Amino acid sequence: MPTGPSTASAADFIPASHSLAALRRAARNCHGCDLYLHATQTVFGAGRAHAPLFFVGEQPGDQEDRAGEPFVGPAGRLLRTTLQEVGIAPDDAYITNAVKHFKFIERGKRRIHQAPKRYEVKSCRPWLEAELGAVKPKLVVALGATAAQSLLGPAFKLTPNRGKLVAADIAPHVIATVHPSSILRAIDDDMRRRQLLAFRADLMAVAGALKELA
Ligand code: SF4
Repeated sequence: MPTGPSTASAADFIPASHSLAALRRAARNCHGCDLYLHATQTVFGAGRAHAPLFFVGEQPGDQEDRAGEPFVGPAGRLLRTTLQEVGIAPDDAYITNAVKHFKFIERGKRRIHQAPKRYEVKSCRPWLEAELGAVKPKLVVALGATAAQSLLGPAFKLTPNRGKLVAADIAPHVIATVHPSSILRAIDDDMRRRQLLAFRADLMAVAGALKELA
């Protein structure tokens, strides 16, 4: 598995055309850090150009790595269900990750998620910037601390600032909330129910902000 910072960056692989189709094609061959070495494939963002909402997660998981699509596993299903509950149409959301390759360690036949290092998030950021430039969303939603810190800087604290509209260099309107996988990992049903209510409240704030920005 990767052991240290790469000297390369995704910037070396960004194509001249910044259309989503061209970016997606070029990202398949990205060697901007070492994470491509063990993952099955690049998992680029999914959704339409000019979608008003732009969701950023951490990285693809085991199922996403195999499918080549972001948020197709349990966390993605929870995200889509909650979006529908707060009245956000799935077609209004472009969904991607801060890091485009799955990072894991093998335990027997299982592949266990490992959080990307800060230098890996930084290496992959040019893809995120290019996707933002192509989609030009009205509102960006960071799912989890890794995405929030990629968008808002390493000093950003998620817990006290979740659900609040903030401005950043990379996008004028950003709201951060938890990653839905953290709700699935809750220690018991009561904790899961409370985390789900808080997540739904954050996405209601997203729906409200989107209406104001429309
Ligand atoms: S994680 Fe990002 S920067 Fe690293 S190889 Fe994959 S696409 Fe390139």
